[in-house]
Amino acid sequence: MLHQFFGGVHPAEHKDLTEHKATAPLAEAPAQVVIPMSMHVGAPCKPVVAVGDEVKMGQLIGETTGLGAPIHASVSGKVVAVEARPHGGGGMMMSVVIENDFQDTPDPSIQHRDNVDALTGAEIIEIVKNAGITGMGGAGFPTHVKLSGAVGKVDTVILNGAECEPYITSDHRLMLERGEAVIGGARLIAKAVGLKEATIGIELNKPDAIEHLKSLVGAAGDVHIEGLKTRYPQGAEKQLIQMITGRQIPPGKLPADVKCVVCNVATAAAVWDAVTEGKPLTRRGVTLTGGALTEPMNVMAPVGTPVSHLLKMAGGFKENPDRVLFGGPMMGNPIFNMDVPMMKSSNCILCMTAKEAADQDPAQTCIRCGKCVEACPMHLTPLFMRQNVDKRQWSAVEALNVMDCIECGSCNYICPARLPLVQSFRTAKFAIRDEAAKAQAAKQAKEAAKA
Ligand code: SF4
Ligand code: SF4
Repeated sequence: MLHQFFGGVHPAEHKDLTEHKATAPLAEAPAQVVIPMSMHVGAPCKPVVAVGDEVKMGQLIGETTGLGAPIHASVSGKVVAVEARPHGGGGMMMSVVIENDFQDTPDPSIQHRDNVDALTGAEIIEIVKNAGITGMGGAGFPTHVKLSGAVGKVDTVILNGAECEPYITSDHRLMLERGEAVIGGARLIAKAVGLKEATIGIELNKPDAIEHLKSLVGAAGDVHIEGLKTRYPQGAEKQLIQMITGRQIPPGKLPADVKCVVCNVATAAAVWDAVTEGKPLTRRGVTLTGGALTEPMNVMAPVGTPVSHLLKMAGGFKENPDRVLFGGPMMGNPIFNMDVPMMKSSNCILCMTAKEAADQDPAQTCIRCGKCVEACPMHLTPLFMRQNVDKRQWSAVEALNVMDCIECGSCNYICPARLPLVQSFRTAKFAIRDEAAKAQAAKQAKEAAKA
């Protein structure tokens, strides 16, 4: 029986713009791709190619220097720059720029594998590592690190097919179009962590995907497909675990602390491609959508494709967008420079009209209605947190557990005063981490002086 999570909201879905549109290859491949050396949680990769090098599609171009995932060429062609370029996360990032030769010549390392069933869990994790797979639905945590940390510690594998953010349909289309890869990836992930079963959670607003995946699993019964009530933020890791297992992750703890590991369905498909075909993660499905776009669509695009090129493929703007975001309206990040490239975690580019964005503006004064408290799935008190952020009282904000905020934006959505609550919590988290780092550095300096 499924459980419930506290709070949450039900924003207008707007998925009808693209949910029936099959994922199509780009009508024109990009002339250049700009591949940032950081698309993951951890240290940026070190480029291992130089200007003038000819590269094949899938060739290693960035190797890890610590926690991270390697990076591969997403097209074949010639390296024309290795330099800092604008990054979707803000600021500049060392990037490898490849001039596309439009041949998509594969790297010789990409080979079909016949002996998949004979692979051990450790061998699967090694393949995932070398393929540069990172979480494709969120922050981009290296998948091999997540899986190796789960071995022997978890009893439940969950795949996230909820896709609860409004507008986004790339995972929905993936489950319909590549269901075998999703189910196969689920089995491989389960095997990698030492289990035999997995559960895929999908919101009930995608009944065709639920039925399709159920039919693919059939009598095998080792991958359970659970339909979840449509409620944002159903796809947040903590809420998904609670819905499927009834287990609550305590503040400051991780899924492994309640014996669960969660991966996105797109990540599972990438695991399947890496293990069965030897393909590194170099392309992904992206939803191009929003009322400002001429022709909303789902596309399969090489990592590193400039946003400007993707928007051109969707017919450009039919009216000036009020804002363009990576991701959905609840958790998306604004794009200010249309030349930044899409990354491994880019599931959507949303171009909102002023009318669509009007719900979020303008900010007024808190009327103490308490709706943000009711909506918060993490049992936080956004109105009090915000008051203390305004006063820059970081210790008070921390005492109100701001570090547990999953930045889902439910409080923003429900707030009648349209206060930018989640933005202020991001500021507070940054300030708290910064103060802690400074305190740690001061302590170390003091100890070094004593020694
Ligand atoms: S929902 Fe907005 S207006 Fe209502 S209490 Fe929370 S911050 Fe204040
Ligand atoms: S305080 Fe954080 S976790 Fe709670 S509703 Fe707001 S954004 Fe979501």
